[in-house]
Amino acid sequence: VIKVPFPQNEPQLSYAPGTPERARLKAALEEIAGKQLEIPLVIGGKEVRTGNLGKVVMPHDHQHVLAEYHIAGEAEIKQAIAAALEARKRWQQLRWEERAAIFLKAADLLAGKYRHLMNAASMQSTSKNAFQAEIDAACELIDFLRFNVYYASKIYEEQPLHHSRGVWNFVQHRPLEGFVFAVTPFNFTAIAGNLPTAPAIMGNVALWKPASSCVYTPWLFMQILREAGLPDGVINFIPGRGAQMGEIVLKDPNLAGIHFTGSTAVFQEMWKTVGENIARYKGYPRIVGETGGKDFVFAHESADVPRLVTALVRGAFEYQGQKCSAASRAYIPASLWGGVRKGLEEQLSRVKMGPPSDFTNLVNAVIDKGAFRDITGYIDYAKKSEDAEIIIGGGYDDSKGYFIEPTVILAKTPRFKTMVEEIFGPVLTIYVYDKESYEEALELCDQSSAYGLTGAIFAREREAVSLALAKLENAAGNFYINDKPTGAVVGQQPFGGSRASGTNDKAGSPLNLMRWVTPRTVKETF
Ligand code: GLU
Repeated sequence: VIKVPFPQNEPQLSYAPGTPERARLKAALEEIAGKQLEIPLVIGGKEVRTGNLGKVVMPHDHQHVLAEYHIAGEAEIKQAIAAALEARKRWQQLRWEERAAIFLKAADLLAGKYRHLMNAASMQSTSKNAFQAEIDAACELIDFLRFNVYYASKIYEEQPLHHSRGVWNFVQHRPLEGFVFAVTPFNFTAIAGNLPTAPAIMGNVALWKPASSCVYTPWLFMQILREAGLPDGVINFIPGRGAQMGEIVLKDPNLAGIHFTGSTAVFQEMWKTVGENIARYKGYPRIVGETGGKDFVFAHESADVPRLVTALVRGAFEYQGQKCSAASRAYIPASLWGGVRKGLEEQLSRVKMGPPSDFTNLVNAVIDKGAFRDITGYIDYAKKSEDAEIIIGGGYDDSKGYFIEPTVILAKTPRFKTMVEEIFGPVLTIYVYDKESYEEALELCDQSSAYGLTGAIFAREREAVSLALAKLENAAGNFYINDKPTGAVVGQQPFGGSRASGTNDKAGSPLNLMRWVTPRTVKETF
């Protein structure tokens, strides 16, 4: 039995002024901005060029093209399926310790040799500041790899079975019979990297469709995996058009699983397609998804106001609110509102917005034109409505980059549109409760959204905390007490929600990895 030590979370680099890492990151930022990359597909270990090109632009300077990537067509999608199934024959026979070595090496390469390049690519291509890049494209992705190897070792090691006299039992955790379709989001390179690798660690092969707005860092990670020794065809990198790809991949009899992070609507569509085609498959495909959120911050009147304000600012506006976990609705008791409002005004007046290459900018651009249009649509709606007032921000400008000011909306009714719909941008809506009791307001929070991803309660009184835990039982798969609802750490707060937010198979946990195995129980009598 191989004992894998419990991993340490990868320590964050500060990138503080004057540090050598800051200088290296600056150089990498220039390198990424200064050359135009060509990104091929990777099918069966071969780089494939279709000539049908998509563009990677800087969200904070949308005329600046960082890369062109080849888009998979029908032929390439089919080739990728064939390549995955071919690779599966050898990959599933490899001992798990040997598979593990590849992912641990990838983690080390990312932690060392490629860290600054990866962070710079994340900053330039998805408009993250250095801190947001570092906690995601470096630390969290490294953690996913190391912790998943550790959890895999536990799964393979444990045989919790009784043996009666004359009987010998064991369980084999075998990979799924087919391939896994990994569909990944723009907002976290860590998640993008985790979705194909978690099944692969468990002996599966995968097709990897990165979001068209986040191809650059997945491509870098794909190269890291190859350098770490990932055999050809185990993960096939195929940027492409979602609808076309779904049409082919989701109807293939060898589809064994879907590992998805993205919108609720797309996830539901995929699930429906699987349902309609259920008789085609060899087995019942495993469907694992993390989708939207309408994450809350709820304050009791015993809350510590300065901590609450900081949590609102960080929870709502870091990475421009483009986290599934972002604080996007808050419930504040009338007794605290004056202090909270003043705190928000003070803190947000100091927040700078601009390109990530200027390290003093906390807020950068939103991802693309579509996001800019949708988010500003909500802001305009609030501007016109009599049921709401924009109390901070509300400005936007896409002449150079897709910039939207951190915006705080005060809702006069608790079910105002921006209080209940996912916006996925730098918009926080606040409802001040006065008419309702604490308990009634908790119920309102629970009932106002179909989602159940993250949420936070701020209270110094333990009874208020207990009541919130009870009343909001299914409102958040990740529940925070006196902390912002973002920033879950692998190995510390396994991440995922239920209701319309997903299947809650906690990313970076044994629960998630168990979805990628099909156990066989073997009994032998003597
Ligand atoms: N895991 C991230 C967090 O805790 C959010 C993931 C997401 O946006 O999908 O902030």
